[in-house]
Amino acid sequence: MKRWRSLKSLNEAITRCRLCPRLVRHREWVAANRPRRYSNERYWARPLPGFGDTQARLLILGLAPAAHGGNRTGRMFTGDSAGNTLMRALYEAGFANKPLSERRDDGLELRDAYITATIRCPPPDNKPTQEEMRRCEPYLIAELTLLKRVKVVVALGRIAFEAYLRILRGYGDGVRYVEKPVFAHGACYTFVGYLFGKPAPSLIASYHPSRQNTQTGRLTPQMLSQVFIKARELIMRSPS
Ligand code: SF4
Repeated sequence: MKRWRSLKSLNEAITRCRLCPRLVRHREWVAANRPRRYSNERYWARPLPGFGDTQARLLILGLAPAAHGGNRTGRMFTGDSAGNTLMRALYEAGFANKPLSERRDDGLELRDAYITATIRCPPPDNKPTQEEMRRCEPYLIAELTLLKRVKVVVALGRIAFEAYLRILRGYGDGVRYVEKPVFAHGACYTFVGYLFGKPAPSLIASYHPSRQNTQTGRLTPQMLSQVFIKARELIMRSPS
């Protein structure tokens, strides 16, 4: 597996990636067929690297960029309702300097947090194939290697939850858990053992802050805030 020496070189490689023909076609098709409300905008239409504090102790793992959110603005969880829902919760828990995520140049700063995703291009119907997820996994592995202080992973949605567990099982060193991890909103799992040379980060499961989940009340702002408050508590309890 290719190794990157820095997040900068990793992120440059990610933005040039064209490994998944279906997703390359889709991200470019979306940009060429943008809705009227974005007709004057130039879409990013390339893979998205993670972003945030490179000394982060919290890693937030989403599914994939939104077709008219990150794929338009060029930053994950930016320019759509999911991004604003997430950012408000991060702001309330002290992980962001403002509660909105609108554009790449909006002055948003993450504090002690880094946002990434299991795949970097928007999949049709938000459904990546197993093969596409396997192809994109090395980028997440590289982030988990290069972000040396991560203590807690918050997985937004079941796919992200399973993706982190797959990496733990595949690359963990002596990783064990007391209770078998099962996806449920707010469920929290700690591990014994190591991942990429450091204690394996704990895992908190959350429903994804998609418009569908928030509009149906499956995920309320309070429920999401509680997840990041719990993440903060776990970080504070972790040995430095
Ligand atoms: S999903 Fe990942 S592996 Fe596939 S083209 Fe996008 S960046 Fe590359």
